[in-house]
Amino acid sequence: MSHSPHIAVIGGGAAGFFAAITAKTVNPQARVAIYEKAGKVLAKVGISGGGRCNLTNSFEEIKDLKNAYPRGHKLIKRLFKSFDHRDTYRWFETHGVALTTQDDQCVFPVSQDSQSVIDCLTREAHKRGVRVLLHHSIQSVEKETDGKLLVHFKAGSRYPSIKSSSRQAARQKPTD
Ligand SMILES: Cc1cc2nc3c(=O)[nH]c(=O)nc-3n(C[C@H](O)[C@H](O)[C@H](O)COP(=O)(O)OP(=O)(O)OC[C@H]3O[C@@H](n4cnc5c(N)ncnc54)[C@H](O)[C@@H]3O)c2cc1C
Repeated sequence: MSHSPHIAVIGGGAAGFFAAITAKTVNPQARVAIYEKAGKVLAKVGISGGGRCNLTNSFEEIKDLKNAYPRGHKLIKRLFKSFDHRDTYRWFETHGVALTTQDDQCVFPVSQDSQSVIDCLTREAHKRGVRVLLHHSIQSVEKETDGKLLVHFKAGSRYPSIKSSSRQAARQKPTD
């Protein structure tokens, strides 16, 4: 019997895909699945930046995060300690998306097409063996007394519920 961890990522948006790719990169033995309620993934990335996807900013002209992000500057500062705009830039270029920085310091794919970003994220997920399950809507996540999480799907989804082995991420045990 396999003891590799099962990791369920809820939502196939940019965050879910990046989390799933990272989980599989850090732990290639893990079985990682993205559960997406809609019939397609990365829909918002497709329309982001007017269809061009403004991936990040050079931050050359941003001297104080507080002015640029009045409500989220503390969170961004903390997140940037582990993965900042330079890491983002490097990650996408390393994974096949050539980037360009406009005069206003906004960063876009050279292709000027958000599809390049969608293709990159889906390709990298697929390459690592991340499973993507569409039409799987999570209804609730219940914390059990032993610290495990029980994930319930909405009616019509393939799995009525899955049991997790972690309090931090919903780790799943699908039946197939
Ligand atoms: C018009 C527009 C333009 C934008 N332009 C930019 C831009 O240029 N640059 C930029 O950085 N950001 C832009 N944004 C913001 C950008 O879309 C978000 O930052 C980014 O897409 C958020 O990604 P996410 O994964 O957090 O959320 P989402 O993209 O919203 O993904 C969440 C996913 O989870 C799924 N989901 C939700 N609930 C459940 C559930 N119960 N069970 C299973 N699945 C579920 C949803 O269907 C969705 O696919 C733009 C947003 C809009 C609306």
